[in-house]
Amino acid sequence: MKISTLPQEFMQAQPILEHIESAGFEAYFVGGAVRDMLLNKPIHDVDIATSAFPEEIKALFTKTVDTGIQHGTVMVLDHGDGYEITTFRTESTYTDFRRPDKVTFVRSLAEDLKRRDFTINAIAMTKDGDIIDLFDGLTDMAQKRIRAVGDAEVRFNEDALRIMRALRFSAQLGFDIAPHTKAALKQIGPNLEKIAVERIRVEFEKLLMGQYASNSLSVAIEADLIRYLPGHIKREDWLTITADLKRNQPQARTVIWPYFLSRLSLRLNELQLFMRSWKTSREDMRAVLSIVPIVKHVQTVSVFELYAIYDYQALLFEVLTLVGTPLATQQRVKQIFDALPITHNRDMCISGGDLLANNIVTPGPQMGRILTQLEHAVIQRIISNRPDSLLEYAKELVDNEKN
Ligand code: ATP
Ligand code: MG
Repeated sequence: MKISTLPQEFMQAQPILEHIESAGFEAYFVGGAVRDMLLNKPIHDVDIATSAFPEEIKALFTKTVDTGIQHGTVMVLDHGDGYEITTFRTESTYTDFRRPDKVTFVRSLAEDLKRRDFTINAIAMTKDGDIIDLFDGLTDMAQKRIRAVGDAEVRFNEDALRIMRALRFSAQLGFDIAPHTKAALKQIGPNLEKIAVERIRVEFEKLLMGQYASNSLSVAIEADLIRYLPGHIKREDWLTITADLKRNQPQARTVIWPYFLSRLSLRLNELQLFMRSWKTSREDMRAVLSIVPIVKHVQTVSVFELYAIYDYQALLFEVLTLVGTPLATQQRVKQIFDALPITHNRDMCISGGDLLANNIVTPGPQMGRILTQLEHAVIQRIISNRPDSLLEYAKELVDNEKN
């Protein structure tokens, strides 16, 4: 099979492949970009595989970066674009279940394709658009099937992350997992506990954002894989999430964790521990701690709580939509946000300095206390955010403190 008109992303990279070939090596487009082109999906990074060793690639190009030289990847910079060029390689056993014990560079494309996870990810293409499909990836694509390259059980045993990847690609593409591959998912599932949490998390986030996430989670529940994931989430919670995702998907990565934890039957004091078990970022943690408590009691949320998370508004509404909060409730929350007289303490018309300058407070804890009370009074619309009314009210507060 030959692709007659290559998408722009590949055309741009053609000179790179030509240059490698003119030095006597082989070079091909491989992996996700070839798959996505064949599926008519948007193309992300164009990856290149080559028979040249990393040092040979570095000698061929003027601008390179060693992005992953120990496993054979060199990034070539070309007119502002970066291309990851990876030497054909094989991987020996993964005794620690994290990284292959040894990566061996080889000169054969076939060897390289053989170590790849799924047939749809093991298709190569020459610079001119000739497709090299040694494992019937095209047939699997046509049949909408995720199938392991070689014996699925052996491949999942080598690297259990591939279990998550099978679910992730199934969620993104709406493909079924082929029967043998599915049986191996279940068989090797327990090995997921040995995989670095960060690697699982990346695949899991992509899974949840997939258009077919709901189907994919159903497979994970059926194959009992969910019990090997961090955080030990209850089965009923998984079922709730699966039902939600049938109606709607998170549109951005940032919404995933606030959404996910809003759906779990965790107590508020368990949120942090759960997030740690997934090794999420600090930003994700902050978003969760701001949003989840509010989503859980959105019917009775107070103006102060909404003020405190003003910056997370967009995220909050996305989560409320995902969990199916009635529109009327969402509108009420929106009205409270819109009616807030200030949205940050920096919007206050006076500062601690003004209170001192007017001899209303003395430096120290009193100043902070009065400022907070002023801010609350403004938020509640007891006073307006004007210097004169703020100073007058501050005097009253201080007088009250004295009495
Ligand atoms: P995406 O579009 O999400 O980046 P991708 O297929 O490019 O999808 P990557 O994780 O970028 O996925 O990996 C690039 C390629 O490397 C894959 O297409 C696959 O051929 C191979 N690969 C990646 N991870 C593994 C793995 N754990 N085991 C075997 N092959 C893998
Ligand atoms: Mg990729």
